[in-house]
Amino acid sequence: MRLYQNRTMLVVCCPAIGYFFHAHVPEETALMSHIEPRFCSQCGSDQIVNRIPDGDDHLRDVCGACGHIHYFNPKIVVGALPIWEEKILLCKRAIEPRYGKWTLPAGFMEEQETLEEGALRETLEEAGARIVLTGLYTVISLPDISQVYMLYRANLSDLDFAPGRESLQARLFAADEIPWDELAFRTISLTLKHYLADCASGAFPVRNEILRHPARGVAG
Ligand SMILES: [Zn+2]
Repeated sequence: MRLYQNRTMLVVCCPAIGYFFHAHVPEETALMSHIEPRFCSQCGSDQIVNRIPDGDDHLRDVCGACGHIHYFNPKIVVGALPIWEEKILLCKRAIEPRYGKWTLPAGFMEEQETLEEGALRETLEEAGARIVLTGLYTVISLPDISQVYMLYRANLSDLDFAPGRESLQARLFAADEIPWDELAFRTISLTLKHYLADCASGAFPVRNEILRHPARGVAG
């Protein structure tokens, strides 16, 4: 079995059974440029060619044996900014990447769920917290790693919360307590900065942002 990782995907190949699968890895674990799959997910052939299929305008990994086209599309990360009496609920990560850093409860959207269901699920899983969503707040494109963050404002329903298995700790932070240097991701710090600024005006418009990889020379 062989493991490959590119900027957004972990690729696992097992020649013995002619099988591969891929899983997207979280933000900012970018390691390498795109690596083609070595085996076709449909027929197991190793005849994978990176080319533009007829009628398409993007390079794709196409199986030379059965013609199957391997599409890789962006992932949605959904989550919430839970509030209780002007304090913000953050979780301390118990998993890599960014073990020990603080984040808002968020994670990859599951199939067959809505954005709203995903935000509620992630908050329950990571912080053991029940929330009421009060509106979509940040929509952040991360084109270099093919992810889109969609975070909701929310009110905590009660103080009966506790860290889930992916969190070391879950606690409320007042505005002047936020551990800015210990936040896990730029998407989270950007969302918190917008929120604190908007609290002053009391208006919370949807914030549509783009964050690019710093190595590409574009400010994030
Ligand atoms: Zn094939």
